[in-house]
Amino acid sequence: MRKYEDTYRHKGLRKKLVDVLRAKGITDENVLTAINALPRHYFLDSAFDEIAYEDRAFPIGDGQTISQPYTVAYQTQLLQIKPFDKVLEIGTGSIYQATVLAEMGAQVFTIERQKNLYDKTKQFVFKSKYPNLKFFYGDGFEGLPTYGPFDKVIITAAAPFIPPKLMEQMKPSGKMVIPVDDEAGNYQRMLRLTKNADGSYTEEAFENFSFVPMLTGKNG
Ligand code: SAH
Repeated sequence: MRKYEDTYRHKGLRKKLVDVLRAKGITDENVLTAINALPRHYFLDSAFDEIAYEDRAFPIGDGQTISQPYTVAYQTQLLQIKPFDKVLEIGTGSIYQATVLAEMGAQVFTIERQKNLYDKTKQFVFKSKYPNLKFFYGDGFEGLPTYGPFDKVIITAAAPFIPPKLMEQMKPSGKMVIPVDDEAGNYQRMLRLTKNADGSYTEEAFENFSFVPMLTGKNG
């Protein structure tokens, strides 16, 4: 059994990470408060205690990564989260991003296509602390039609295009934050799409990022 400990040292490192995110331009205090509250090292193997508070992505096994804190903060800020927002996340991975959203009071529905990563969510250390966080095994391109419509949708893998079913499962005036491949697939442009009453959407484009690919179908 793993022992979880959030020491003064961890708390100090976390405060420094929040300062780094602030210096890089993150301004949403609710996002920064959530990141300051969450022991990110719980989401990595215990051997990587210190690395958890560096602003970098990190492998979590099965060729997947825990997103860089800046990326998590950036996407969360673009989502403009309000308490009780119904949020669909594609790409559970380490559960860190989903927990940041849950800590901010959102109702979170997160999907993972890799069976072994999904299975790990059953031992999630904060399971009882966040009854507002629900895990699903499936293909994110399909979304969760029976649980929608959602106020917000966040995709945490590189999308080859805007998945039409995810747009359908969003409420009018809902927002989707999605990193979409450039033509060569070298990097992704962060987009925020706001759904109009007639089902069309308005697009805003932000910085470029680099994500692991969003893949079709389930694995395992
Ligand atoms: N949000 C995660 C980031 C994980 S990396 C975190 O905070 O750690 C992206 C994840 O998306 C990987 O776990 C990958 O398996 C998953 N993924 C890729 N394509 C997917 C799809 N179609 N449906 C659901 N999950 C997908």
